[in-house]
Amino acid sequence: MARRADRKVLMKIYRRLYAHFGPRRWWPADTPFEVMVGAILTQNAAWSNAARAIENLKKEKLLSVRKIGKADYGRLSRLIRPSGFYKEKAKKLKNLIKFLNESCQGHIPALDAYRTKILREKLLAIKGVGPETADSILLYALGRPVFVVDTYTKRIFSRHKILTDDATYGQIQRFFMNALTKNTRLFNEYHALIVETGKNYCKKRKPSCKICPLKVVKHKKNMV
Ligand code: SF4
Repeated sequence: MARRADRKVLMKIYRRLYAHFGPRRWWPADTPFEVMVGAILTQNAAWSNAARAIENLKKEKLLSVRKIGKADYGRLSRLIRPSGFYKEKAKKLKNLIKFLNESCQGHIPALDAYRTKILREKLLAIKGVGPETADSILLYALGRPVFVVDTYTKRIFSRHKILTDDATYGQIQRFFMNALTKNTRLFNEYHALIVETGKNYCKKRKPSCKICPLKVVKHKKNMV
């Protein structure tokens, strides 16, 4: 019963956001590898800054597993500088390349051979890849039905008393994945819509509830 109630609420929110924003068509990238690189570069950075770093890599024709693998740290760091924390991120990109070379010989479609659970464990074992980055790669680069949780998810759903303030990443992810139909397209769009809501309305200091599409969605108690 609880699951049915959760689904009803979550789908009501989804439909409201979809009607307001329309399809987000994420992730903005030409290839799965570009999504992976973007997922690392956007850590602690606005997407616009990560996108500038990706543009630099493209201009230098460096956006491939082989080329980033061969590039020296200095050059790579300089090119991704707009994304911030560029020295750490250069190392993380190299770690990603090592993982790809070891897991699929740099041929990303070969990752299809792994079950999602195993692939997630492998991604989380990469130094510098946490749950949000791993799940973004699984969902947006590899098309796996995995729900991505971020700061906006926690903020919006706790303000609506659907999540408690102290709910962990794992608890939140399980809540969404148990309640919703396991569907890549739905998870893709839902997360993108949450980000749009957080960026435009549900800001940290001053939420713009009066003009937000979720202003009428109210709940009496926490579900997680
Ligand atoms: S801005 Fe207000 S109405 Fe909109 S999601 Fe945040 S708390 Fe909810």
